[in-house]
Amino acid sequence: MEFFAMIDRLGGFTDGRFFWIEWHFWKVIGWLGNLVFTSRFIIQWIATEKKKRVVVPSAFWWLSLVGTLLLLSYALFGKKDSVFIFAYAFSWIPYIRNLVIHRRHKKAHTACPACANVCAPESNFCSACGAKLPEDSTSAG
Ligand SMILES: [Zn+2]
Repeated sequence: MEFFAMIDRLGGFTDGRFFWIEWHFWKVIGWLGNLVFTSRFIIQWIATEKKKRVVVPSAFWWLSLVGTLLLLSYALFGKKDSVFIFAYAFSWIPYIRNLVIHRRHKKAHTACPACANVCAPESNFCSACGAKLPEDSTSAG
């Protein structure tokens, strides 16, 4: 209770504030954007540590996109600040582009039925285990 009294004295939970932040709808949206945007680095780091090489999973671009849209909404309707609006106004374009390329790349590559290794387009044998890959069905269309 000493702790709460101390927090209270600092203004932590008083006057509609929580953690010294005055909350309203757009503030929640903005902080949600911050949270989503920051989590993408954690996702990317974990993916890289797992593979022991630098990888950018598609989740990274999804989190970037959602985080940017949330922060853009906050900039437009909450903060109404041209600097913040400009900062997030166009950054979603490369995120969407990367997601499109990621999807095309995945579609063009064949997963090995034996070891699940992702093999280059039009390859006949798996580059990891040497197993025969099924006939290429992605070249059509
Ligand atoms: Zn294989």
